[in-house]
Amino acid sequence: MAPLSILIVGCGIGGPTLASFLLLSSHDSQQRPRITILERSTTHARGQNIDVRGAGVTVIRKLRLENAIRSATTGEEGTKFVDADNRVWAAIPADKSGRVQTGTSDIEILRGRLADLLYRRSKDVSQELEDEGGEGIEYIFGDSLEGLEQDSEKVHVRFAKNGERRTFDLVVGADGLQSPTRRLGFGQNGDHERVKQLGMYGGFFSMPKGSTDSDWRRWFHAPGRRGIMVRPSEVNGMSTVFMSIINEKDKRFAEVAVGGHQGVDSQKALLREYFWDAGWESRRIIKEMEAADDFYYAMVAQVKMDKWSNGRVVLLGDAGYCASPISGMGTTLAMVGAYNLAGALTRFPSDHTAAFAEYEEKMRPVVERAQKLAPGAPYVLAPETAWGIWVLHAFCLMINYSRIGLLLAMIWGPPANAVPVEDYGFKQLAEWSPQT
Ligand SMILES: Cc1cc2nc3c(=O)[nH]c(=O)nc-3n(C[C@H](O)[C@H](O)[C@H](O)COP(=O)(O)OP(=O)(O)OC[C@H]3O[C@@H](n4cnc5c(N)ncnc54)[C@H](O)[C@@H]3O)c2cc1C
Repeated sequence: MAPLSILIVGCGIGGPTLASFLLLSSHDSQQRPRITILERSTTHARGQNIDVRGAGVTVIRKLRLENAIRSATTGEEGTKFVDADNRVWAAIPADKSGRVQTGTSDIEILRGRLADLLYRRSKDVSQELEDEGGEGIEYIFGDSLEGLEQDSEKVHVRFAKNGERRTFDLVVGADGLQSPTRRLGFGQNGDHERVKQLGMYGGFFSMPKGSTDSDWRRWFHAPGRRGIMVRPSEVNGMSTVFMSIINEKDKRFAEVAVGGHQGVDSQKALLREYFWDAGWESRRIIKEMEAADDFYYAMVAQVKMDKWSNGRVVLLGDAGYCASPISGMGTTLAMVGAYNLAGALTRFPSDHTAAFAEYEEKMRPVVERAQKLAPGAPYVLAPETAWGIWVLHAFCLMINYSRIGLLLAMIWGPPANAVPVEDYGFKQLAEWSPQT
């Protein structure tokens, strides 16, 4: 039997994780899949602060990447709720034991940094396989998927850059919330219904560290459901910012999201309009946003689908089941999803239908739990009025001085510790660090 040829679209979190595990199967090295990874970007931009939790940590341990990842974290100590005078109403520390999932996890890292480590790990696994006589991963950066058609035997794709046509046995869409693979493989019509918008929009960027910035995340709320978070960065002398707003009335928030990177000027202008007079350090932050070259605008949404595969095309991570940044589970879902998809394809190498069904069966309950947001979310953490903000601060103050915070985190914190990680007999690796 010829080994499977698999195109993975997206080299973010899920894509390289899947590739590594597929190559770590116990099958003979000649029989392991032939993998191509197609990534639109040419580099891994630093990106937003994300966290790896519970089962996600188990997956990075299986890749023997834990030390490398822990030494690349942002070191965030916890979250401080601050008012316009920078007075701290509550300081909720990270749970560094990883046992209780509070707002700050014990592994906080920039998304691009994590993606880069996972990519380099996959390259390393690929090289080892080549040394054993197998076929390593083919990486294509700076190109994207433009066309996709399938028949009962193969998937035929077209790349955007030079219109190159290629054929694969399977295609995995690990290309994020706006997944082109989802639209091409499941139909453009209906994609609007699959992506459930939460009415929240955000701008993310990094800026030089100011005198008030520290290892704590500071979270400022302004009336009109506006919020600004300033967080530590792994990069020396820098902080990161996430500005968010819930606004379902002003249609421009949705309109500017469509332009992607081409729409940066209009995205920045809109955030300036809403945040310049927000108070606190908003003017400094807006000035930094205007100068930022890594600005990124996103709508906050969840992806909900009845099925994550269609024939020979399957979705992974945000592309198929984005839980939104509010859930704190996106990274963990992408990593655990990649692990389970690799496990299923290893168990059923000649029956993709059975493999996709097993993957779905394992992931569906986990995803449903992750997508269930805490009561009142996202509104409860983005009050409309000054009075609402006062109530939020008073509530945070109260939980800060009682044990109730931990209890609430146990009930409503991200359910990352409850995700089972089965053993698929993948090859054991030696601990890896970027220097080795
Ligand atoms: C502001 C913000 C804060 C967040 N905070 C957290 C958090 O605290 N905890 C958490 O768990 N999650 C968080 N997330 C979510 C987390 O970033 C995602 O859930 C996670 O990155 C999903 O991984 P993925 O591999 O599915 O997709 P991604 O990491 O988005 O990777 C998709 C990849 O596909 C590439 N791509 C896209 N289109 C194409 C194309 N046409 N052709 C080729 N390649 C393509 C992209 O360039 C990208 O590299 C946050 C997200 C945002 C936006």
